[in-house]
Amino acid sequence: MRVIKEIKDMQKFSLAAKARGKSIAFVPTMGFLHEGHLSLIQAARKKAEILVVSIFVNPIQFGPNEDFNRYPRDLKHDKKILENNNIDILFMPEANKMYGHGHRSFLEVEELSKKMCGRARPTHFKGVATVVAKLFNIVMPDYVFLGEKDYQQLIVIRTMAAEMNYAIEVIPMPIVRDFDGLALSSRNKYLNEKERKSATILHKALLFAKTEIDNGERDLHRLLMRVRSMIGAEPAIRLDYAVIVDPNTLEETKKLKGDLVIALAATLGATRLIDNIKVKA
Ligand code: AMP
Repeated sequence: MRVIKEIKDMQKFSLAAKARGKSIAFVPTMGFLHEGHLSLIQAARKKAEILVVSIFVNPIQFGPNEDFNRYPRDLKHDKKILENNNIDILFMPEANKMYGHGHRSFLEVEELSKKMCGRARPTHFKGVATVVAKLFNIVMPDYVFLGEKDYQQLIVIRTMAAEMNYAIEVIPMPIVRDFDGLALSSRNKYLNEKERKSATILHKALLFAKTEIDNGERDLHRLLMRVRSMIGAEPAIRLDYAVIVDPNTLEETKKLKGDLVIALAATLGATRLIDNIKVKA
């Protein structure tokens, strides 16, 4: 595994690989790697001759009162995992190189970035779309692997890649969960024992909703009320939103009909978690 820190060196590597006719798969991450990241890495390994993984905690996707400074980092552990998984390149740019003094260029996917998490985090997806566009220009991948855990992020990036004409195939990967159903996330590290236990209600509530739909429930409002009250009954959790949306437009559905995604965000103490489940009504 070669570690590249300089943007120019990464571009040189990718251009040379492409000149030799090699395909490049890319897994962007913020590090503190877990099995969720690994599922993306292992699928990407099979897809292309060159595998690039990036670790970059992107400052511009964090709001002023969010957890940028305390976001969990463990580079030694991450490097060990990557070395055991046959990565070609670990790309780790420095923030002051990615955003030189007075950086002015940003990319926004309108509408999609204002829904769901965008309400509580109004600049988040602008930061995400911008960094991913920059990473695409630097790594020049043929394939990018993204987790469905961050469902809105997946749709924002897929839309950005299509509308900005990147010749990159976006490959979504299913959510990897802990033994009790909690979606794996680097942020789970923040949870204390009590919060960690309470957090299991998020997936339970999603599963409950899916089962209700599978059993014929078609009353959207009744279903959402029940999901919200299940989560509301956990004293340690503050539900930010629970919505049922179209899987492509992220518009809230008016009817329980067809392919849908039930998505939620909740705060436990100082930790914001998200989760979702795909359903067919
Ligand atoms: P992050 O390091 O949190 O920015 O995540 C990097 C990539 O890993 C994103 O595409 C995430 O959606 C994906 N990812 C994070 N957690 C999971 C998970 N539990 N299952 C599947 N993919 C995940």
